[in-house]
Amino acid sequence: MTAALILSAYAFAVALLAPPLITRHWPSDRAPRLTVVLLQILTSSFLVAAVGAGLALAITLVDGLSQLSPTLEACADQLPVTDHGSLGTALGHLGWISAVVLSARLLYCLLTTFGTARRRRRAHSEMLRMLATRDERLGVLVLDHPAPACYCLPGDVVITTGALERLSAMQLEAVLLHERAHLSGRHHLIIALATAIRRAVPHIKLLDYAERETRRLVELIADDAAVARTSAPTVAAALAVIGTSHVPDPDETGSPVPETALAIDSSPTLRRIRRLLGLDLSLTRRGHALTVTAITAATNLPLALLGVTGATTVFRPCPRSGDSGWPQTVVMSVDADSLDGASAP
Ligand SMILES: [Zn+2]
Repeated sequence: MTAALILSAYAFAVALLAPPLITRHWPSDRAPRLTVVLLQILTSSFLVAAVGAGLALAITLVDGLSQLSPTLEACADQLPVTDHGSLGTALGHLGWISAVVLSARLLYCLLTTFGTARRRRRAHSEMLRMLATRDERLGVLVLDHPAPACYCLPGDVVITTGALERLSAMQLEAVLLHERAHLSGRHHLIIALATAIRRAVPHIKLLDYAERETRRLVELIADDAAVARTSAPTVAAALAVIGTSHVPDPDETGSPVPETALAIDSSPTLRRIRRLLGLDLSLTRRGHALTVTAITAATNLPLALLGVTGATTVFRPCPRSGDSGWPQTVVMSVDADSLDGASAP
């Protein structure tokens, strides 16, 4: 029960406190790639703690489950179980049901989110085959549309005639480098993963924040990749052309960019331009220390709690005699005082 409470408290704390702490104290814009990794670890950590809390509650049902195994039956009386309390039994059932439901829902959302995105991308690619023409020199598909836009689908970069007319040669190179960074980084999969986790457990502040920030940060990662091969002013100028000079869409279907695509203008552009022109993008020593500390804590804490829970549950309640079938090494690990105080099974 104690372990379940600790794991639940950890899950609540991560869900509520991580977003404001990262927003205020974390150098996200200086280290977008590290921040995406950190968000993935924090969301995984939250899920492990939530499922672990349910499993920790389910341990209280071991007394009932002991009828299935002579080994468990031998030790069941000494396990920290609430074998005769209706509340304890109810909590135990609630625990394993919660763990199973959460795991099943996560799997369902992963399958449906990735499946739906894949189907939409295929449908859009088939439409592009009819509407777009391939520019062999640039290696892109060109869509005849007045709005300046550029986006990528797995395997292809799509650019509009409006963008080709407005961009200089260097800016066009920066835009294409940006989109190809999305493709090589498989950013569509990273975003789909964050979306699936957010859908699996809705209305959790951490998961909403992780999805929103992941969408924003992959744009910064792609910007940095373009800067590495061109220059920050060139990428900023290209962003200004593509991201701030939209032709007003006549209706909701007027945009040339599909919902599932990673477009260059899919996050607040002015903030990205200011970042490119004004920031020292190198991570400070303090930033490195924060990164290592946060990633280590988020990765290890719930696993350590689960390990302690398992160890204290299994090793503490061993019977005094060796006739129960319980492994001898376990009996040897209990000190003499504990053995004297223990009751025979
Ligand atoms: Zn982009």
